[in-house]
Amino acid sequence: MPEGHTLHRLARLHQKRFGRAPVVVSSPQGRFADGAAAVNGQLFKQADAWGKHLFHHYDGGRVVHIHLGLYGTFTEAPVPLGLPVGQVRMRIVGAEYGTDLRGPTVCEVIAEPEIADVVARLGPDPLRKDADPASAWARISKSRRSIGALLMDQSVIAGVGNVYRSELLFRHHINPYRPGTHMAQAEFSDMWTDLVELMKVGVRRGKIVVVRPEHDHGAPSYGPGRPRTYVYRRAGEACRVCGAGVRTAELEGRNLFWCPDCQV
Ligand SMILES: [Zn+2]
Repeated sequence: MPEGHTLHRLARLHQKRFGRAPVVVSSPQGRFADGAAAVNGQLFKQADAWGKHLFHHYDGGRVVHIHLGLYGTFTEAPVPLGLPVGQVRMRIVGAEYGTDLRGPTVCEVIAEPEIADVVARLGPDPLRKDADPASAWARISKSRRSIGALLMDQSVIAGVGNVYRSELLFRHHINPYRPGTHMAQAEFSDMWTDLVELMKVGVRRGKIVVVRPEHDHGAPSYGPGRPRTYVYRRAGEACRVCGAGVRTAELEGRNLFWCPDCQV
């Protein structure tokens, strides 16, 4: 599943491609026909993201709210675009580029004030300037749930997925099963600062970069074109720092990865 940096990159890209100009919006597949008709031909004002949610703001107060879920993707091409291939939920065509959205979990038109309802369910997003980590700490410090689960809970922190979750805990030597109530405020504060930096690098470079240069050797990444990681999808392999076998287990439906020696 795309993590928050991907959505912020898409917001920047769409802003650059379509911002401040009218666009042609359609739903070749038909499932978003009414929504597309509601914004078709309108001025695309702005794009922004909060966690894994993307918002396209149109003139006239309408907003297209998108969540990619597990399978959603945008693909872009210079105009003129060819005939739609596959199940294209939404096609946006601007002056120079067009983009096709396939397979999102959410693609709906809402009114500007309804954005508040969406973000009310979300914790602070480390990539937003208005992020307030104190609200995340308030939730974590009172919770007996594990820090591994809390970091993935979008209502605690918005935008963190399994790679950043696993790698952040490793970088801070924190066992994923440690309850929120056993976290020290300084540990959380250090993790948040690191997370903001790591996710900014993700936006800038278009990929997750989490392994420090001094550990960036040894076993390759877990797959072609995938990020090099300390523990994510490295179960059974040697920890890049201490050599112990990386462990894995399922937690709340997602796989955890951690080093039993480095993370206490
Ligand atoms: Zn280790």
